Amino acid sequence: MSDKKLATIAVRTGIESDSQHHAVVPPIYLTSTYSFPQLGEVPQFDYSRSGNPSRNMLADALTELEGGAGGVVTSCGTAAINLLVSAILGPDDLIIAPHDCYGGTYRLFNTRANKGDFKVEFVDQSDPLAFAAALARQPKIIWVETPSNPLLRVIDVEALCQQAKAAGALVAVDNTFLSPVLQQPIALGADFVVHSTTKYINGHSDVVGGILISADAEQAENIAWWANCIGATGAPFDAYLTLRGLRTLVPRMKMHEENGAQVLAFLQNHPQVAAIYHPSLPDHPGHDIAKRQQKGFGSMISFELAGSFQQLEVFVKALKCFSLAESLGGTESLIAHPSSMTHRAMSDEAQAEAGINTALLRLSVGLEDPTDLVADLAQAFQQAVEVG
Ligand SMILES: *Cc1c(COP(=O)(O)O)cnc(C)c1O
Repeated sequence: MSDKKLATIAVRTGIESDSQHHAVVPPIYLTSTYSFPQLGEVPQFDYSRSGNPSRNMLADALTELEGGAGGVVTSCGTAAINLLVSAILGPDDLIIAPHDCYGGTYRLFNTRANKGDFKVEFVDQSDPLAFAAALARQPKIIWVETPSNPLLRVIDVEALCQQAKAAGALVAVDNTFLSPVLQQPIALGADFVVHSTTKYINGHSDVVGGILISADAEQAENIAWWANCIGATGAPFDAYLTLRGLRTLVPRMKMHEENGAQVLAFLQNHPQVAAIYHPSLPDHPGHDIAKRQQKGFGSMISFELAGSFQQLEVFVKALKCFSLAESLGGTESLIAHPSSMTHRAMSDEAQAEAGINTALLRLSVGLEDPTDLVADLAQAFQQAVEVG
């Protein structure tokens, strides 16, 4: 692992790397192809699907931030997940995934498993008996999301990795909800880390991207080979923008954390809140694990609104500082209704099993002034009460 602090890595990777004009900020390389110095002499970069300087710079920064051996920047987070299963799993191999994983991940694993590409089993990884039974089936990969989406359940990554290793399984962690600033899965024993860089890493809701980082150098080469083979790599312009967003990741995460804490304090005391989910709450499942393995609790907050569905509709419509939208991790605050939005690809039964009901709302707390965020929630609750 690098001896530099995270903010320094995020800010300085690629700075002053331009040997031609000595530009402080690295230029963007939009070229699709590169000239060979002479016949038979293959340059470092030959074609931008397999390699591109702008994309490599982002990969280097994120790989260093996560303490990995190598990483591939992909066209989106889903492409990174698909790259992992394409590279590692054969028809007889099993992947164990959480029953409350990201909706798109659930759809990808389910659809490809139904085609016979590999086998999948969705389990509640916080249930030791269910997890032990799944491990006994000798999975090739354990897929982990912690905190999970949308109920923010916390998994003990270090303990899971020890169990997985003993069973001969690889562990891949989707670290999208916390970013390397608040959680570093490779240091906890994970073999792979995946990000939807669309979220906190780019942080400005204007690029869709992803990365797959490997803890092992040989595996990193295998992943890079597969990325070129299946065409999973990201665009140079997207990589340039994402690196620009990454520069401020550390201060943004601090502010997300502070704003999230203020919004949470307000929601906790509100009579219109029937249930609340956040790892910082002492009675939240896995709170003690989160305290140990995370450097912060994150600014994703889920809660159930008391009252009727009509009141929920009024509440969501009345908000001015929270846009009704999927996604998360941008400077602007968002609100999502998981059962009809992010998790609609899951059947009603699968949603029920994951604990998602129609009263559940999920906030991505952004970087607006927190007093405005709290005031906005207060007036929306008031409007909901008035129609009740
Ligand atoms: C958004 C998201 C993904 C998928 O990433 P895309 O960039 O949308 O393809 C995967 N996992 C989590 C936790 C996410 O939030």
